[in-house]
Amino acid sequence: MILQSTPVKNRKYYLFENFPNLNLLCAFSTRILGNMSLFYGNAGDALENRKNFLVSLGIDYQNLVCAKQVHGSLTRYIREIDSGKGALSYDNAISDTDALITDRKNVPLSIFTADCLSVFLYAPKTPSIGLVHAGWRSSKENFMVKAVQLMQEKFNAKVEDLYAGFGPAIRGCCFEVGGEFTDFFTPEYLIKRDGRYYLDLAGINKKQLLAGGVQDKNIFDSKICTSCRSEEFFSYRKEGIGCGRMMSIMMLR
Ligand SMILES: [Zn+2]
Repeated sequence: MILQSTPVKNRKYYLFENFPNLNLLCAFSTRILGNMSLFYGNAGDALENRKNFLVSLGIDYQNLVCAKQVHGSLTRYIREIDSGKGALSYDNAISDTDALITDRKNVPLSIFTADCLSVFLYAPKTPSIGLVHAGWRSSKENFMVKAVQLMQEKFNAKVEDLYAGFGPAIRGCCFEVGGEFTDFFTPEYLIKRDGRYYLDLAGINKKQLLAGGVQDKNIFDSKICTSCRSEEFFSYRKEGIGCGRMMSIMMLR
């Protein structure tokens, strides 16, 4: 599995190649390509950085669909008319949205992260995709299940045919949280070590997918920890407020 390979110095992006279809693009950038956000971090270089990333994937950066992510639990159905929203300016990005789904070809969806988990969803039989921004706030609201349910509703996607992929995120090795998290998460995913709590964000989201009916064999995890591998990925917890964002991108061809 390509994503579990050891870090390659100066790798610009990873292709997520675990899903059974060639008519699909699924990738995420590393920090080598720079900040991808027009809102967080050093946003002045972001358009140029996006161009560099998307040109290498054969995508026109002006068609990119971006959301104003708010750690909420809204999923939006994206169509051709939405192409380019948020591509050139943060102001016209899709508001209040943390997951994008579509059944349209050549509409590139994006999610921006630095520690939060990006989740790629793919239903090959009823060709449709979803891209989810899953931080701890959304995860405690069972957000993953809601995004999957909307794919079922809109596209008649069957959960047993659904694939899921986890991009880079801060993992249970590094994601230290306060004791108040015991109100939201069970000990299975809130690991106690030396009197401190660590959250297993990917584990929580995997559990939600399984509970929603996704098959274990169809879930692929890059297992990349942004904090352990902060030379290669942005980590908000490690770098603080000026931290840039990676882009996860997904598109049906
Ligand atoms: Zn780690």
